[in-house]
Amino acid sequence: MKSLTDRKKSVSKRELTFAEKAYLPAVLKGMSITLKHLFKKEATVRYPEETRERAEVYRGMHVLKRDEEGRENCTACGLCAVACPAEAITIDAAERQPGEEHLYREEKYASKYEINMLRCIYCGLCEEACPKDAVYLTDRIVPTEYSRGKFIYGKDILVEGVKPEERIDISQRKKDYKMDVKD
Ligand code: SF4
Ligand code: SF4
Repeated sequence: MKSLTDRKKSVSKRELTFAEKAYLPAVLKGMSITLKHLFKKEATVRYPEETRERAEVYRGMHVLKRDEEGRENCTACGLCAVACPAEAITIDAAERQPGEEHLYREEKYASKYEINMLRCIYCGLCEEACPKDAVYLTDRIVPTEYSRGKFIYGKDILVEGVKPEERIDISQRKKDYKMDVKD
């Protein structure tokens, strides 16, 4: 009967040799591919000991900058939170008290500045919206965690120069976080 397409293939029904029955040609072919890859440059890196070079435009973890005198740049204007398409930023503003001039550059500062890193899409719009050069996205990778609550980054993680021992206990930070974040 005439075929509608030209794709028909006749299949050989010849008897398999002993080697073919024992899969020898297939095993040798597989081993030759493995051998070929042994002498090729490794495609993987031994992370976290080794890291790949990232593109100059890579956007990773945020940092809240200080000025040259060590005072926080952020004035809690809220523009970054408004610009954020993922609604990942939560800010509480407070008034600078006498004697705190060395801590905050302007009269108003962020008493709370939190970013939900699970919501963040690293678009960089917060950085672009900031009129005070306060928030920047670095090339640092956000580390993995076992609970969702630990991805709520507060000022103790975001402000540059905070020592690890000065970081707040995460359970404390979760308590005053307004969104429903469960472990
Ligand atoms: S990088 Fe984008 S998504 Fe992430 S906090 Fe900034 S504005 Fe929001
Ligand atoms: S980081 Fe910048 S935009 Fe966001 S509240 Fe602070 S000063 Fe305003």
